[in-house]
Amino acid sequence: MGTALKLGKKFSGANVTVLEKEPKVGLHQTGNNSGVLHCGLYYKPGSVKARMAVHGVQEMMAFCRDHDVPHEICGKLVVAVDESEVPRLKHLQERGQQNGLTGLKWMGQEEMREIEPHVGGVAALRVPQEGIVDYPKVCEAMLKRITAQDGKVVTSARVTKLKPTGTRWVAVTTAGDFEADFVVNCAGLHCDRVSELAGEQRAVRIIPFRGEYYKLKPARQHLVKHLIYPVPDPQFPFLGVHFTRLIEGGVEAGPNAVLAFKREGYKKTDFSAADLFDALSFGGLWKFLGLHKRMCWEEIKRSFSKELFCQSLQRLVPGIRVDDLETGGAGVRAQAMSPDGTLVQDFSFVRGRRALHVLNAPSPAATAALTIGEEIASQLVGQLE
Ligand SMILES: Cc1cc2nc3c(=O)[nH]c(=O)nc-3n(C[C@H](O)[C@H](O)[C@H](O)COP(=O)(O)OP(=O)(O)OC[C@H]3O[C@@H](n4cnc5c(N)ncnc54)[C@H](O)[C@@H]3O)c2cc1C
Repeated sequence: MGTALKLGKKFSGANVTVLEKEPKVGLHQTGNNSGVLHCGLYYKPGSVKARMAVHGVQEMMAFCRDHDVPHEICGKLVVAVDESEVPRLKHLQERGQQNGLTGLKWMGQEEMREIEPHVGGVAALRVPQEGIVDYPKVCEAMLKRITAQDGKVVTSARVTKLKPTGTRWVAVTTAGDFEADFVVNCAGLHCDRVSELAGEQRAVRIIPFRGEYYKLKPARQHLVKHLIYPVPDPQFPFLGVHFTRLIEGGVEAGPNAVLAFKREGYKKTDFSAADLFDALSFGGLWKFLGLHKRMCWEEIKRSFSKELFCQSLQRLVPGIRVDDLETGGAGVRAQAMSPDGTLVQDFSFVRGRRALHVLNAPSPAATAALTIGEEIASQLVGQLE
């Protein structure tokens, strides 16, 4: 949606049409995420992610202000639970500074508990720029802007074929055929498949990682005031289970990261033979499983055990009890994996023939949606005029 909005702005004479397979926009990653406005703390300096996250949060905040989308810059604490995590937290602080974040504050136990009275750990980094937002409402506001710019959003239009016809494309969809000069593929959990429809080889594969949440019962929500995060494991692009205050009220705990048996599998029992075959026939997945056996096994155990999930949360807030947690929702991450089993960390935009494919847009791509859209629109100057 962010990309369509920016394309419509940059190429005012162009007919921009969004083809969405669902009856509504924002029903997958964007509508099932943590609702956090990330500001660029974690990402490797110089990476596309770092550049876009730092600018992205500013641009998203301005959009929310201009379109009355509920949001709040509440700040977050990243917590070192013991001394062994302090060097990694220091490294994170340096990263944030290199990425241009100002106002990061190192806090000892006393100071961190002034902000989050129930937090555990030995030290924390306060990140004042981070916040919370209602992403489904962001999508609604973007939809209005796209149509106000004479763009179109066609729902219930699953793209099943992309046929090149001379210098144009015909997108065959469940809502009819659409002609286009240029295709931008932002299909999230299906982006590798859509790139294949356009004649590309699938160099990377989308592997779905489900993120499950619990909610804190109302009587225990006072234990968390803002956002409380762990120091992430640098080997993985996932941030580790954390606490998020929601813009609509309430506190969520999660998400974990378990391999899903279906690309849009929000429940543990969801299963798709085609998706599973797609994942298991990819050599990269077997290499990943070989490299990260222990982590994958721990994630599966934690997914089925509320006690283990609670133990992870107690590292951040020791007063949390199993009884404080009720089952929450889930989201599924579209994580690109390389044939050598590594998870692609950075955003990935790949040019095809009269097409551009977004082949990896994990967190913080919801925060950075407008900046990503601007980048894509800029890459197409000269192509669409
Ligand atoms: C559990 C979880 C927590 C996260 N937390 C955060 C966070 O707090 N902050 C943050 O910034 N980011 C977060 N992220 C990441 C963020 O949500 C995603 O990076 C972002 O939403 C990706 O947007 P997208 O438009 O690429 O994908 P999506 O939102 O998944 O949209 C892709 C769309 O393409 C459609 N589609 C797919 N195939 C076809 C087809 N063949 N034809 C037509 N339409 C098709 C789908 O229906 C879908 O609507 C989180 C993600 C998850 C899963």
